[in-house]
Amino acid sequence: MKNQNLSTLIEYAYRHVKYYHELFNKIGIDASLIQSSEDLIKIPILKKDTIQEQMTDFISDEYQKFPKNENVVIKRTSGSTGKYLKIYWDYKDDIKSLMPLWTLRSRLYGIDPKMKWCSFYSTRYEGNKIKPLLPKEVALNGRYMGFSKIGLTYKKIEDNYRDILEFNPDWLLLQPSIAYLMSQIVKEHNLPVPSNLKYIEMSGEYLFDNYKKQIEETFDVYTANQYGCNEANEIAYEFKCRNMHVIENNVIVEVLKDGKPVINEEGDIYVTSLKNFAMPFIRYQTGDRGILITDHNCSCKNKAPILKVNSGRSSDFLLLENGEKMNSYVLANIVEYTNENMSSAIKQFQITQTDINKFNVNLVVKSSYSGWKNAISECFLDNIQEEELKNAKWNFIFSDEICPDKNTGKFKYFINELI
Ligand SMILES: [Zn+2]
Repeated sequence: MKNQNLSTLIEYAYRHVKYYHELFNKIGIDASLIQSSEDLIKIPILKKDTIQEQMTDFISDEYQKFPKNENVVIKRTSGSTGKYLKIYWDYKDDIKSLMPLWTLRSRLYGIDPKMKWCSFYSTRYEGNKIKPLLPKEVALNGRYMGFSKIGLTYKKIEDNYRDILEFNPDWLLLQPSIAYLMSQIVKEHNLPVPSNLKYIEMSGEYLFDNYKKQIEETFDVYTANQYGCNEANEIAYEFKCRNMHVIENNVIVEVLKDGKPVINEEGDIYVTSLKNFAMPFIRYQTGDRGILITDHNCSCKNKAPILKVNSGRSSDFLLLENGEKMNSYVLANIVEYTNENMSSAIKQFQITQTDINKFNVNLVVKSSYSGWKNAISECFLDNIQEEELKNAKWNFIFSDEICPDKNTGKFKYFINELI
């Protein structure tokens, strides 16, 4: 089926973007023949490294000169992979690509752009200039209150939460680990929840089922997961069916395994932005792993593909004795299974590979399970299915809390000290 947005983007990229012009000429691609998502396979995939090496070749010639250069907004990648990238957008395209998400927020959860909201930030920009990082900031004519996520501790999150209570927002945009810690704080100190709060949106990290459950119970609101990146903006959004559906008028998503598109199978997630003309991203590797389901009869009636994003960037691997790498998702799985067997006793976890066959397992367990530490450790070991991991040495540590990284504000459930 012809996708007009895709045709327009591909033809534009060929005419105005040096990298694509040269690539299509070199391998003999006729831009006018790329008309549907099935045709995309003719175009080679794109990795962040390639862009980093020749960044200006990826920016449309129109946006490198007057008048369109005046429309440019520059975004930065979050840096979770440690690979810095500047991303150019025409501010009008940027707004257009955010529209589908706003339509969905409004239709599904009753949230509109005029409402008050809060989030946590790592870097702040004014126009295209970097701003000093304030611990707290009110913006958008008093409709927004934000907090720095650098150097977050349990105590700071508690202070931020008290500010949020006073601000009384309609909704929150949080990364799951922060939302989860907040729900812990509310329960522990018996704090109220903001009376206007209707909805919590989560992004930036994998959301574990038990986190989601506790957050929804504590705040008594709907939560929805959102998956996106600055290169393409919103990619997928959770509907009331609890599945994330691809936002089809914004992006085309492919999941590739060994270089081939797969359906219902885990692979690397690639995205093609249909809205970014200043810097087109075509078949761009997001660095996340997931499963795409196209043939479904979802209860929400949305026909768009379902995208399941798995935890962990593709760089988060366990290093095995035989030199092979294993996706750290396996660890999240062990914890989920342990929780199934132990009434969700594990509230939070962080696993560190300290050496070949050596892992530290840091667990935060429910206070009612503090006498069950040995049983929980044994249950964890019983749930290890992989032969390669069964002989490893697992050192269990029990903590009261695990905070996001003090430097990046990101929460990592797996750390590999060998890489
Ligand atoms: Zn659905």
